[in-house]
Amino acid sequence: MDVSRLLDNLNDKQRSAVAAPAQDMLVLAGAGSGKTRVLVHRVAWLMEVEGLAPHNILAVTFTNKAAKEMRGRVEELMGRSLHSMWMGTFHGLAHRLLRAHYADVNLPDSFQILDSDDQYRLIRRILKSMNLDEKHWAPKQVQWYINGNKDEGLRPHQIDTRDDYTQKKMAEIYKVYQDTCDRSGLVDFAELLLRAHELWVNNPSILAHYQRRFRAILVDEFQDTNNIQYAWLRLLSGEGNNTMIVGDDDQSIYGWRGANVENIHNFLRDYVGAETIRLEQNYRSTGVILKAANAVIDNNQGRLGKELWTEQAEGEPIKVYAGFNEVDEARFIISKIKTWLEQGNALQDCAILYRNNAQSRILEEALLHESIAYRIYGGMRFFERQEIKDALAYLRMMNHPLDDAAFERVVNVPARGIGEKTLAQIRELARENQQSLWQTGMLMVAEKRLSSRASNALKSFIDMVLTLQEDLAELGLERQADEAIKRSGLYAMYQAEKGEKARARIENLEELVTACKQFVVPEEAEEMTPLAAFLAHASLEAGETQADKHQDAVQMMTIHSAKGLEFPLVFIAGVEEGMFPSQMSNEEPGRLEEERRLCYVGMTRAMEQLYLTWAESRRLYGQDKFHTMSRFIKEMPSDCMEEVRLRTTVSRPVYNRFENRTSHEAFVDSGMQLGQRVMHPKFQEGTVINMEGQGEHARIQVNFDDFGSKWLVMSYARLTKV
Ligand code: ATP
Ligand code: MG
Repeated sequence: MDVSRLLDNLNDKQRSAVAAPAQDMLVLAGAGSGKTRVLVHRVAWLMEVEGLAPHNILAVTFTNKAAKEMRGRVEELMGRSLHSMWMGTFHGLAHRLLRAHYADVNLPDSFQILDSDDQYRLIRRILKSMNLDEKHWAPKQVQWYINGNKDEGLRPHQIDTRDDYTQKKMAEIYKVYQDTCDRSGLVDFAELLLRAHELWVNNPSILAHYQRRFRAILVDEFQDTNNIQYAWLRLLSGEGNNTMIVGDDDQSIYGWRGANVENIHNFLRDYVGAETIRLEQNYRSTGVILKAANAVIDNNQGRLGKELWTEQAEGEPIKVYAGFNEVDEARFIISKIKTWLEQGNALQDCAILYRNNAQSRILEEALLHESIAYRIYGGMRFFERQEIKDALAYLRMMNHPLDDAAFERVVNVPARGIGEKTLAQIRELARENQQSLWQTGMLMVAEKRLSSRASNALKSFIDMVLTLQEDLAELGLERQADEAIKRSGLYAMYQAEKGEKARARIENLEELVTACKQFVVPEEAEEMTPLAAFLAHASLEAGETQADKHQDAVQMMTIHSAKGLEFPLVFIAGVEEGMFPSQMSNEEPGRLEEERRLCYVGMTRAMEQLYLTWAESRRLYGQDKFHTMSRFIKEMPSDCMEEVRLRTTVSRPVYNRFENRTSHEAFVDSGMQLGQRVMHPKFQEGTVINMEGQGEHARIQVNFDDFGSKWLVMSYARLTKV
């Protein structure tokens, strides 16, 4: 092969990194400067020129989507497929490692991944079994505590509780939680990393094997590694291998989850002689977008400091739109997407980014209403939906009945008369005997320890799982899923429910069977049964099967999940104080800077056009909140910006919030306009922010300057326009 291909389309600095001799390297550079491109070319270079085999390479990226893209790009450069190359996320790679060495870390062959929702439920149950009040021991906080300690590599007995009661109790909960997981063969996300680390610490010969094997270690998005990940990489670095890390301190956005940007400094300290290469040319964004993003990030202190320039044209100004509320904001975005389409562009080149997952729903509804296809990455994903998790729990019980989380989830779904009291008894005995709920349930039935009604109900559940196991063992995955969904009674249960939501649930269950049909066991999971492989896939790669991959669709995701990606047209929604930066960032030092980095990440995803939208009023958790424009927008140079104003010229109807605020059919038009200034005899001046109903039922919501927001009946309100 002509190796010059591997160096074409690279600038001098990129080339020096790609073709460097075997050494440790740090590529430190701002967004869109070609860091990921360098990493991809380096992988190809190592194989083509340095003669490494695919299995000598370990490449780590941040999301499954990024890992897939990276593999695709290397394969394209090399012109062949590279299955045996370990390329994936830290979690995915740790899972692969634990699959290969489960016995060395005391895991059963059939261990299951516990996702964060399941983890949360399990913690709640444990608190209950320990008679701890959730008011004092908030499950979320316990979850953070456990995961945080795991990220630091700490087991309960290693935590310094300083003889503090709360600390001691937390460590105790952590221990009970961990014992339960171990008993059920459950591994949470943080545990994947910690176990993988312990595997190497406790088994020098296994470690030595991997040190010899992985001659090149490459890590993208290094600024967001946490301490356990760094420790893991550090262990893997031996005599004969080299590490290349690629990152940008300005894009460190997972500090809240334990990521440690200091790892960049640690790398330079620990990998003596590592060369630092800086890239400064941005190839992604227009001049205007880059200038505004640079101006925003410039407000942060203590940066490593990088200058980014571009040869690209200035491009269009960044557009800012202030919506009346989130519905109006969504409608604006959709109207711009339609224009984009009319200009002959593809939907997939357009991304809607938001700060919080919860923002997606209104946007989704607006897209659905206009029949515009969309895909959501991360967040409320297919595999996280209630009915899917129910179905998966049955499959998990078939695969490994000692799975307490699955047992709890479906033992009484559909309802079979197994009440909370019976469950409490099972839990208690399970804890005493240090056994799984499944084993305990069997025991209680056999020993007739329950009332006959409860006993019969439990027996019918146990028998059903056993029959499913027996009858379906030899069938293909698709049939297994289909039969399990039907025979468990799940399908009938959702069918009996009425309404749109229930119909969607049935469709989702059917979609799950389709997902099973399409599922191909990946090569690295060959030794697993298809069912076990599918369950691992569902936990690890949630979100990947939700929509037809080949369909042209708008890309929707949180800014966090957009890391490393790029799109010609980008919308960032909810750019307002209290949303972005988030409320919390006012309360915790350091958080505001992290929010600003997040803003920098979001903006630098855009190649050609960037829209920033915000809403003056937004319904959050059942309350209307009034927000002002985000300070981040104010930090952008005004010559890069253009405000889009629609409201002064057009009278737009609002849809009826009262009857069904999500129904797009319920439009109402009235004499008043949104944004209209009005005068009320008692409340004085205010602005109209919403309207609903018709005729004598018509109501109007006014945000009064001195009295706040009020709903008024139009026919009595005696409002006058000012
Ligand atoms: P981020 O920090 O967002 O992850 P990055 O530094 O990893 O960005 P890449 O995604 O590798 O940047 O590159 C950004 C864009 O610029 C890509 O479309 C890439 O193909 C292109 N690009 C990178 N280097 C060059 C180059 N030398 N010539 C032309 N295009 C380039
Ligand atoms: Mg990148």
